[in-house]
Amino acid sequence: MDLGIAGKWALVCGASKGLGFGCAQALVREGVNVLIVARGSEALQAAADTLVADAQASGAKVLQCARDITSAAGRADVLALRADFDIVVTNAGGPPTGDFRDWDRDAWLRAVDANMLTPIELIKATVDGMASRGFGRIVNITSSAVKAPIDSLGLSNGARSGLTGFVAGLARSGVAAHGVTINNLLPGAFDTDRLKSNYQAAAAKTGDSLESVTQRRIAAIPAKRLGQAAEFGAVCAFLCSQHAGYINGQNILADGGAFPGTF
Ligand code: NAP
Repeated sequence: MDLGIAGKWALVCGASKGLGFGCAQALVREGVNVLIVARGSEALQAAADTLVADAQASGAKVLQCARDITSAAGRADVLALRADFDIVVTNAGGPPTGDFRDWDRDAWLRAVDANMLTPIELIKATVDGMASRGFGRIVNITSSAVKAPIDSLGLSNGARSGLTGFVAGLARSGVAAHGVTINNLLPGAFDTDRLKSNYQAAAAKTGDSLESVTQRRIAAIPAKRLGQAAEFGAVCAFLCSQHAGYINGQNILADGGAFPGTF
């Protein structure tokens, strides 16, 4: 299926690896020009090299900017490279796991900054331009924890719920009539560095091996496997496509059936 977005420009955050990279790669393969962002320049360069190779077939352009997207200065540098995006994928590392009794105000502010206020700032910087051009797609990478909270991920449960509530209102505001959609894409368990470090933390807490924690988690997923970043990226690319113009303000789970509810 031709997604109808070749030649569009996308900002993809947290894109040197994991889910963000999966999204960038799926977009580049559709001919979408991308500006990818992550902090570590070495991994970002490696990701850009892979994307440039992918872009040979699709003709997409690949820009990179090694900055912390959760800082105002980092965002300003990214948006100075290019401001008019047709597609924005917001993403950054998730907050640490732990017990809420150990989190002070600063820990909460860091989580809210990274997982709520940063996406909102990026949306603020780009959404009106999208509306004025009559096309826009914003996809926020959040978490299945928004629908089914995970106790040890309280910082994530809280901060991302704030973003979800905000997006629910904005997506249904005036921008919707100007071809802009804003959706959240909720990963369940995907095979990335982030997931491994979460499972490692769980293993360290219980004294289990990483392998047994991983197998136990997989056993609870109806698909009986972890998700792959490429399949997450494919869903993201579809949400960014011309065909998805009537999908707006939704929270879309990609979790191998792990969420136990009917709706
Ligand atoms: P990952 O494999 O650790 O990749 C995170 C990417 O974001 C890296 O490219 C990282 O590069 C970049 N990044 C992190 N902090 C950043 C910052 N402040 N500014 C710019 N770039 C930043 O993580 P992932 O598994 O893809 O997870 C992506 C998001 O989905 C996270 O918020 C995570 O909590 C959430 N999530 C993941 C899963 C899962 O199963 N994987 C499940 C639920 C939710 P640098 O470190 O070099 O900046």
